[in-house]
Amino acid sequence: MRNVKDLVQKINKLKKEKNAIVLGHCYQNIEIDEVADYVGDSLQLSRLASQTEADIIVFAGVYFMAETAKILSPNKKVLLPKIDSGCRMADMIDLNQLKDFKAMYPNLPVVCYVNSSADVKSEADICCTSANAVQIVQSLNVPKILFAPDKYLGTYVANQLPNTEVVTYPGYCPTHLNILVEDVEKMKKQYPNAKVLAHPECQQAVTNLADYIGSTTGIMKYAKESQEKEFIIVTEKGVVDRLNRDCTDKKFYLVSNKAVCPNMKKNTLDDILYVLETEENEIIINEEIAKRARQSIEKMIAINV
Ligand code: SF4
Repeated sequence: MRNVKDLVQKINKLKKEKNAIVLGHCYQNIEIDEVADYVGDSLQLSRLASQTEADIIVFAGVYFMAETAKILSPNKKVLLPKIDSGCRMADMIDLNQLKDFKAMYPNLPVVCYVNSSADVKSEADICCTSANAVQIVQSLNVPKILFAPDKYLGTYVANQLPNTEVVTYPGYCPTHLNILVEDVEKMKKQYPNAKVLAHPECQQAVTNLADYIGSTTGIMKYAKESQEKEFIIVTEKGVVDRLNRDCTDKKFYLVSNKAVCPNMKKNTLDDILYVLETEENEIIINEEIAKRARQSIEKMIAINV
């Protein structure tokens, strides 16, 4: 039978021996937190990892996150526990599709959500996260931009900036799109005192029902700092699992049991142990691509939001 305690011990021992760290995205199965040195959202984790002296980074997340860690830590070995854990949104656009999109709207700056491949980042002018997308677009101070790959985050940005035209690529997150207006309305009826906290990857009809719209980190911070006691969480299940664990005096309800990212749930402790033992599933990025992708990320970081 699977012995979690034993797995945790073996992983921690190997981490020490190999000077490795484990990053855990907050959509991961909650057992991953047992061995994670840092838990958070994708860019925050990659930035933290780049500031450490670790030789090996194990990224318990999806492929683009491990790529982002590698882009920011080119001299570290980055391992992805399950190599086929891709982000279904990031996989909706590749380099050629972005080039075709740009060709349809020549001379417009491209803002690229970090949920995208290294190739796509390398062809963008600047990256953004769900937390800073509005400020990044605003900082460009231009009347029109291209936004890829998430059309819902792009639409959210456009609604916040009425003087900027945002042309969105037709990508989306299938997990967040699974969340329907009916799901939110049903939960609001069931928990009339609960505040609704939603991620901007949801469709606009859903975010229209929210008391707060923000990134994963933003939602968790809001919920922890709020004086309210009940919350309907309109994003991936891992956020609810962690909030229920960390804030036992409050109640958090997942908006729908369809709000689960199957690829985020692929990584297990067994996989983390395996890649630490074998050092398989290493992320390799072409140097020129990595350099250009890093420039897009660094431009965003320089704006300091
Ligand atoms: S929840 Fe959506 S955006 Fe996040 S990793 Fe899964 S598919 Fe990608």
